[in-house]
Amino acid sequence: MNMLRTDKRACQACGNPIQGRADKKFCNDYCRNHFNNDLKSRDTYNPLIRSINNSLQRNRKILAGILEQKGESAKTSRDSLLRQGFHFKYLTHIRTSKNGRLYYYCYEYGYLPLEKDSFLIVKKKEE
Ligand SMILES: [Zn+2]
Repeated sequence: MNMLRTDKRACQACGNPIQGRADKKFCNDYCRNHFNNDLKSRDTYNPLIRSINNSLQRNRKILAGILEQKGESAKTSRDSLLRQGFHFKYLTHIRTSKNGRLYYYCYEYGYLPLEKDSFLIVKKKEE
């Protein structure tokens, strides 16, 4: 990676020049905390982000709830998921299994679409 290095770097929180290491972004801990808290609260109050986060967490809870009742993996239907408020358009990532099947994940819980609108629910194993 080509890092841009200048002698006059400005603190990302207060804009004052920074002394010291080339990779420093803030003049002190106060500025770093201030900046990070600010970012966090901006994200938390952004309605779009909040609504997507809620949907992702609801999805995760629904998948977790199904596995809690049924063990390591479980089959369920699209209707059952929809009835519980599952939003298929929200997922965190997709994994491809060795045999080329796509698993759709909400955090550590995932589902594999099967035939006839049913799904296999799985939990990602610790790595
Ligand atoms: Zn500062």
